[in-house]
Amino acid sequence: MTLERLNEIKKLLNEYNYQYYVLDNPTVSDQEYDRLMQELQSIEAKHPEWITADSPSQRVGGEVLDGFQKVTHQRMMLSLGNIFNEDELREFDDRIREIYPQVEYVCELKIDGLAVSLVYANGQLSYGATRGDGTIGEDITHNVKTIKSIPLAIDYQGDFEVRGEIYMPKKSFEQLNEQRQKAGEPLFANPRNAAAGSVRQLDSRIAAKRGLDAFLYMVPTASDVGCQTHKEALDYISKLGFKTNPMTRVCANIQEVWQFIMEMTEKRQSLPYEIDGIVIKVNRLDWQERLGYTAKVPKWAIAYKFPAEEVITKLKDIIFTI
Ligand code: NAD
Repeated sequence: MTLERLNEIKKLLNEYNYQYYVLDNPTVSDQEYDRLMQELQSIEAKHPEWITADSPSQRVGGEVLDGFQKVTHQRMMLSLGNIFNEDELREFDDRIREIYPQVEYVCELKIDGLAVSLVYANGQLSYGATRGDGTIGEDITHNVKTIKSIPLAIDYQGDFEVRGEIYMPKKSFEQLNEQRQKAGEPLFANPRNAAAGSVRQLDSRIAAKRGLDAFLYMVPTASDVGCQTHKEALDYISKLGFKTNPMTRVCANIQEVWQFIMEMTEKRQSLPYEIDGIVIKVNRLDWQERLGYTAKVPKWAIAYKFPAEEVITKLKDIIFTI
């Protein structure tokens, strides 16, 4: 474990980040990326003196392109910490139960799309923005309006922000790549990159044709509208007309969470959209608030990432393990 190896990983991850977030065109699998990121984090954990401000471990991900109006988020849009196995899940639970022994979790599918913030004022959609670097995103309102499941008006007059994931259903993705192949255009590597590439089109007629959809999963100001739990917030936005994911489940303890993860690992292939894991969130909003955040991720939520599957898909000249 040397400084040389650390610098090599940093260089690789920076390249992969650029290809993934800026070009929407990854050249390695997410598992390979996550493996390198874990290696980087474990070296940095042993040598904190080697951590630099520009290390890929120090950022939320997502660079802001030129060409779109920039939006400063009212509250930062963070990423999620990752875990990869049951032991790490139990460690997460132990940390929370040390403070809140009665904790209850909400498990959600981790939709493989891109995060969006929708802001409403006077009951009207005011703008939609990408996460960008977490502080500043891109204004993608013109494309958000083409997504039919996103309400343009809601029955709530105050300022209201709701966050979720824009995604491309598997079917739309297959059709899109078929069309692109026929037209001799480069193919998208996966639905996530196709969705990201679509919402970052300057011409909204293109996004409108791409069959995008959105699940909403978070209300930053949920307690201001009388919600006490995350589940109540999801029910609240569902009543306002937003699409929420029907698989979401409240779990009384970590055994039930693991059970949900196992069930969804089986169901994953049969879903009409891609998921890359399960998000586990503390249900009570006041406990979420008190648990707080690290610089980059919430302490009250974690993403369990699925292991790589045996299937190898050959896509153009890129080989992905999915
Ligand atoms: P992430 O994908 O690991 O998790 C955070 C994101 O999950 C949130 O921002 C949100 O968009 C999404 N999400 C989906 N469902 C959610 C739900 N129910 N609740 C909350 N959030 C939900 O983090 P990231 O920063 O968006 O991306 C990093 C990941 O991207 C890496 O771990 C890697 O897998 C992949 N990546 C791959 C490459 C590559 O070259 N293959 C490069 C960079 C990043």
